[in-house]
Amino acid sequence: MLKLYNTLSRKKEIFNPLSDNTVKMYSCGPTVYNFAHIGNMRTYIFMDILRRTLKFCGYKLKGVMNVTDVGHLLSDSDDGEDKMEVAARKQQKSVKEIADTYAKAFFEDLEKLNIEKPEIIAYATEHIKEMIEYVKELQKAGYAYEISDGIYFDTSKFKDYGKLSGIDIENQLAGARVEVNDEKRNSIDFALWKKADPNHIMQWESPWGMGYPGWHIECSAMSRKYLGMPFDIHTGGVDHIPIHHENEIAQNEALTKNKSVNFWMHGEFMLVDNGKMSKSLNNTYTISDLKEKGYSAMDFRYFCLNTHYRKKLNFTFDSMNFAKTSYRRLKEQLLLHKNSKAVTDKKVIEEYKEKFKNAVEDDLNIPLALGILWTMLKEEKSKDIYDTAIYFDKVLGLNLDKEESEEKPQTTLPQEITELAEKRKKAKAEKNFALADSLRNEIENKGYSIIDKPGCYEIIKK
Ligand code: AMP
Ligand code: ZN
Repeated sequence: MLKLYNTLSRKKEIFNPLSDNTVKMYSCGPTVYNFAHIGNMRTYIFMDILRRTLKFCGYKLKGVMNVTDVGHLLSDSDDGEDKMEVAARKQQKSVKEIADTYAKAFFEDLEKLNIEKPEIIAYATEHIKEMIEYVKELQKAGYAYEISDGIYFDTSKFKDYGKLSGIDIENQLAGARVEVNDEKRNSIDFALWKKADPNHIMQWESPWGMGYPGWHIECSAMSRKYLGMPFDIHTGGVDHIPIHHENEIAQNEALTKNKSVNFWMHGEFMLVDNGKMSKSLNNTYTISDLKEKGYSAMDFRYFCLNTHYRKKLNFTFDSMNFAKTSYRRLKEQLLLHKNSKAVTDKKVIEEYKEKFKNAVEDDLNIPLALGILWTMLKEEKSKDIYDTAIYFDKVLGLNLDKEESEEKPQTTLPQEITELAEKRKKAKAEKNFALADSLRNEIENKGYSIIDKPGCYEIIKK
């Protein structure tokens, strides 16, 4: 029995699809104005684990992910410029070039991380017609009003506003920051459609003149188009709960008058060195940055899987090193099982399968599922154990059936470092450990770590 934590009810609930055997799921996708960082990727690994678990439980999937290539302003609450346009100006490229570059990089990262692409990928700029239609419907139903810079949603008309995050609207209004737009009826009203000034690059004709959509309307319009309402599951990162998803609910339910999404699920944030990732701190790593430093995408996936998706995950290079070593050890153990001629009692295998299933069905308890895998690998070596691990990998997606060499990142090390490492290897072979240690120090001082392995070594950029 699959149980999932629903942000809406703040508890684990038994999951059943709303109709037939196909789960309809919408995932907030990237805003393609920059390379996605490892925090973003944590959220998509969570989405992937959820998708794989649903399939493991026998369901079919209809998943939609949007790509935001218009409408996401610098502040989530409709202030500032469009992120895409700022990037285009800074990089002296067209908005289309920016979107193409970063969308391509994003999907390449998904592939490297073994994240299955949802069945439907929906670009915001290709759904302007649907968004305009949606805003018209909201206006007709009395939830939208026009002011000089756009069409806004009147949150005071939607009595359930705040139900996802549990915010108290009265308090929110009382303590609201200084109003940036005094034409708005309520400070938390949000833009559905913005009127464009002539130098705004992206603009479309609409019943309200030339303009562009708000960020939130895109997800409502595209989820309704592809999944209908209500649908089963909506995912995103926790930062989307208070504004973006609250606004989606308002837009949806102003029209449906009923629950529009059955399960809202959110992945917790990734921190770096216990703090926020930010450009100014120079700690927004990408999957390519990690590769440069000697960690494969699978090392990172393994790192993420060790923490439950609803817990904060602190990224440090120490913990990443640990994950990398554990993942390699896992592969080594698997190889030993693969090459064994022995058999394991069917009952023992069934017990592991049962435990594994219970763990993943308990709100995707992947850390526990990994623990069960490790315990199983400690059994006497057998091909049956190997086959069971590969079966578990349908959920884990750790490429457990691939040989390690297929995973190894291709890093180019400076010649000086490889020479020092070779000298150290020779010194060790000659049992000159003092020299070997001083060579290790030299390598460390030059910014690399050397890890000894049976019969060989590996060098990692620190
Ligand atoms: P964005 O492209 O900014 O819309 O973000 C894409 C996804 O990544 C969203 O679902 C965010 O909630 C999520 N996200 C952003 N920052 C982090 C982080 N530090 N850790 C985990 N998820 C994040
Ligand atoms: Zn969204």
